[in-house]
Amino acid sequence: MQFKKLHLSGFKSFVDPTDLLIERGMTGVVGPNGCGKSNLVEALRWVMGETSAKKMRGSEMDDVIFAGSSTRPARNVAEVSLHLDNRERKAPAMFNDSDELEVIRRITRGGGSNYRVNGKDVRARDVQLLFADASSGAHSTALVSQGRIGEIINAKPTNRRAILEEAAGITGLHSRRHEAELRLRAAETNLERLDDVIVTLE
Ligand code: ATP
Repeated sequence: MQFKKLHLSGFKSFVDPTDLLIERGMTGVVGPNGCGKSNLVEALRWVMGETSAKKMRGSEMDDVIFAGSSTRPARNVAEVSLHLDNRERKAPAMFNDSDELEVIRRITRGGGSNYRVNGKDVRARDVQLLFADASSGAHSTALVSQGRIGEIINAKPTNRRAILEEAAGITGLHSRRHEAELRLRAAETNLERLDDVIVTLE
C-alpha cells in the first residue's frame, strides 16, 4: 500500500498542522540539525501503532505532544494521520471497502491514544495488523533508523529471523495465531465449566 500523505498537528515540534505529501518514487527530507526530520519518521512509526515511548525518544507517550516553547504554550492533544492508497485492495477485510484509507491516531495528555480508520473508531491492534500485513509497521525493517544497520548485523539469529519474517509479511499471522490460541484456551475453560455443571445436575 502506497503512503500518500502524512498529516501532523501538535506532534513533537510540529505544533501547527503540517502536511507531508509522499509522491511516487523517492521523497527526501532535508534541513538543519534539530529541525524535525527524525520527528517525521517517528510520526509515521507512531501512527502505525508504536507502543514504546522509549522508541519515540521519550519517557512516556505524552512526550510526543508539543511541550511548548519560549513563544508558544504546550498543547494537550497531538494527532497524526496517514493517507494510504488502497486501490489494490490489500488491506484486511474490515478496512477493504474503499480506495483510500485515512488512519488517525490521537493522544490526549493523561488520556491515552485512540485510533480511527476512515472515521470509524478501531483498536490499536487493528491498526498494527493492517500495517503488519503490509510489511510496514512501527517495527518494520522498512523504517531504518540511525544505528539500526549495525544492530541487525550484530543481532542474535532469533532476532534476525524476526526481521526476515517481517520482510516476508507473516508477522501479522503470528499475532493472529496468538489471539486464536487465547480464544481456544478460553473456550476450553468454558467447556470444562460446562462439564462440571452437567455433573452437578446429573
Ligand atoms: P538531526 O539532523 O540532528 O538528527 P532532526 O532534524 O532529525 O535533527 P529531530 O530530532 O527530529 O531533528 O527534532 C528535534 C527537535 O524536536 C528538537 O528541537 C526538540 O526540542 C523538538 N521536540 C521533540 N519533542 C518535542 C516536543 N514534545 N515538543 C516540542 N518540541 C519537541
